[in-house]
Amino acid sequence: MAAPWEDVLRDEAAIQEAASVAVDAALLEGVLMRTEREPNASDVVNYAPFTLLPSAVPSTLFEQAYAVQQDFNLLVDAISQNKEFLEHTLASTIKVDDFTAQLFRIHMQVLEEGLAQSVFLGINRSDYMFDCGVDGTPALKQIEINTIAASFGGLTSRTAAVHGRVLKVLGKSEEASRLLPNNPSKGLALGIAKAWELYGSQSAVVMFLVEEVQRNIFDQRCVENELWNRNIRVIRKRFRDVFEKGSLDDAKRLYIDGQEVAVVYYREGYVPKNYDQQNWEARLLLERSRAVKCPDIATQLAGTKKVQQELSRPGTLERLLPGRTEAIARIRATFAGLYSLDMGEEGDKIAATAIADPDRFVLKPQREGGGNNLYGEELRQVLEKIRDSPERTSYILMDKIKPQPAMNYLLRAHSPLQVSECISELGIFGVYVRQDKEMVMNKAAGHLLRTKAIEHADGGVAAGVAVLDSPYLV
Ligand code: ADP
Ligand code: MG
Ligand code: MG
Repeated sequence: MAAPWEDVLRDEAAIQEAASVAVDAALLEGVLMRTEREPNASDVVNYAPFTLLPSAVPSTLFEQAYAVQQDFNLLVDAISQNKEFLEHTLASTIKVDDFTAQLFRIHMQVLEEGLAQSVFLGINRSDYMFDCGVDGTPALKQIEINTIAASFGGLTSRTAAVHGRVLKVLGKSEEASRLLPNNPSKGLALGIAKAWELYGSQSAVVMFLVEEVQRNIFDQRCVENELWNRNIRVIRKRFRDVFEKGSLDDAKRLYIDGQEVAVVYYREGYVPKNYDQQNWEARLLLERSRAVKCPDIATQLAGTKKVQQELSRPGTLERLLPGRTEAIARIRATFAGLYSLDMGEEGDKIAATAIADPDRFVLKPQREGGGNNLYGEELRQVLEKIRDSPERTSYILMDKIKPQPAMNYLLRAHSPLQVSECISELGIFGVYVRQDKEMVMNKAAGHLLRTKAIEHADGGVAAGVAVLDSPYLV
């Protein structure tokens, strides 16, 4: 899996020069982030962290990840429409996890009232690592699927140009020409535009629901720009704005500041800290509305770790996707071992196994955004403490994926340049639009490669651990 630039990795002068070119290229291309000190101002910005060099990715696994994306889109959509499955799967979790319980309550309330929404838009990102099996052959294993606020589709549309420049500077023009084109922001925008069109009101806007702290605004602006280019008006609002100025009319059309909203694109609302009482009320208002929510609350629930674990049970995929034998086989081939910690014999047994051999597993709560999982000694301690308590059902266990590391330089503002042993995670963006029962769009919209030093077990780009990368197919 070695990349064809191992020879330059230790040429310090060449690397230094390439790094300074890389940083300027990133700024020029718009691989940008607001700073930690001024997260809501664009007066001073910096480059988003990225690898100096692209990372080698086996082409067969890359193609496999693309090939299964439409299947995952169908699966997520099917789960979101399956009330009984969500209810049954999340029953134990919502008894102990307040956040999931609150989402679930809104889901049930909206269903009882009757869905006003008839157009559905899903934007997800299925993430994978390349597991090195016993014989050393890498296999594609899904880490998770993100069904809400999956980010970096914008910035990653601009990283290949940066890596292309770096390779040229290093005398690798031939390799530079082999870097893949990639534009998830366009694909995401096409989905949003389709949903907007089907909503059917020329004067209605697309609302990006954004967090109070908006360091990653440029990633979102990439998608916004694509919409403006199509003459679709975009507004950016926070939950607080919705609480203060949002309302529904008799037909449950959503208005904010007097503007009708056709599509609500959530870049917010995926972790407990996004919510106070008013924000929960705002969320409920949005969910009750006719506007296309991306995602609707059922689709957010379909992306929980508990659902992921339940999907790996024999027979579950068959029930959710009846008759789709080939899609099921493609999906299942990407599953790592996943284990329920529900109370009972099965949960007791796997808890004991994980306590005895924690390095085989990852312990995952129902959280997003990186930095929440437990590994090794910490996993053992926590699991030991909760092994006989229902609290354990707020977690799932997963086999730990062990990829083959590769050397690279991680470029981060204000950090010294040093070579690190790294592992990568590949994400594929999925976009789909459904009108009532009919799928009108189902696509893979591009990819994201993120890379981190092996000493960090967890964490994404936003969490400050991983950095943006580009795949170099080998
Ligand atoms: P989140 O929703 O917080 O992103 P993830 O399931 O993606 O949760 O886990 C966060 C990070 O932890 C991943 O990006 C990956 O680096 C690491 N990780 C998660 N699951 C595994 C696993 N099974 N094996 C190895 N690393 C994992
Ligand atoms: Mg996630
Ligand atoms: Mg993740």
